[in-house]
Amino acid sequence: MIIENLKRIRSEIAQAELLYHRSPGSVLLLAVSKTKPAADIALAYRAGQRHFGENYCQEAILKQRQLGAYDITWHFIGPIQSNKTKTLATCFDWVHSVDRFKTAKRLSEQRPIHLPPLNICLQINISNEYSKSGISLASLPELCQQIVELPNIKLRGVMAIPAPQEDFKQQRLAYHSLFKAVKMLDNVAFDTFSYGMSGDLVAAIAEGSTIVRIGSALFGAR
Ligand SMILES: *Cc1c(COP(=O)(O)O)cnc(C)c1O
Repeated sequence: MIIENLKRIRSEIAQAELLYHRSPGSVLLLAVSKTKPAADIALAYRAGQRHFGENYCQEAILKQRQLGAYDITWHFIGPIQSNKTKTLATCFDWVHSVDRFKTAKRLSEQRPIHLPPLNICLQINISNEYSKSGISLASLPELCQQIVELPNIKLRGVMAIPAPQEDFKQQRLAYHSLFKAVKMLDNVAFDTFSYGMSGDLVAAIAEGSTIVRIGSALFGAR
């Protein structure tokens, strides 16, 4: 099933890129493997998938050990506990869910010197009542300014998890203002918009997403 799902999602992404005038290949598929076994990751890997996203630090570390021989780019997308920043800084290539300066500072300090800078995104709360994590759009410029000074992390862009919506237009609307607001920021050169999940990837691509984070549509229900 995973192989068929992967093919279908890849073609959905390619079609959406075409339809919404996005460059071919400009949207990265991040396979969200939380709660799924390492064997599922290995299956997708053998079908060419290289980027995987995990939400829970301990769970991710166990799978990373089992998959040590694989050339995987690991993304952390879950809530960050401050006692886990060292593990995140050591074991991941990307952290999408940074929402305070203190976390960014710790990640920078704890990033091992032999590794390239850690890629990070700032999580933006675009549906206030739905999510407790993420910063407001209004506080983005100031946080950016503080974070760009940090040496061992690379601020790549923003991440968002909107409240689930069935309606395509509503789905687009949620991302539209975020995309526009980020494009209007001076002094930041973001290349990453991490949004779009199984239920709204086409709307996300229509609104400028560069990383869609797909779990259940790929690996099945959790
Ligand atoms: C679980 C999760 C996803 C994937 O969600 P699906 O609806 O299963 O595709 C994406 N992003 C985050 C932050 C998640 O926690």
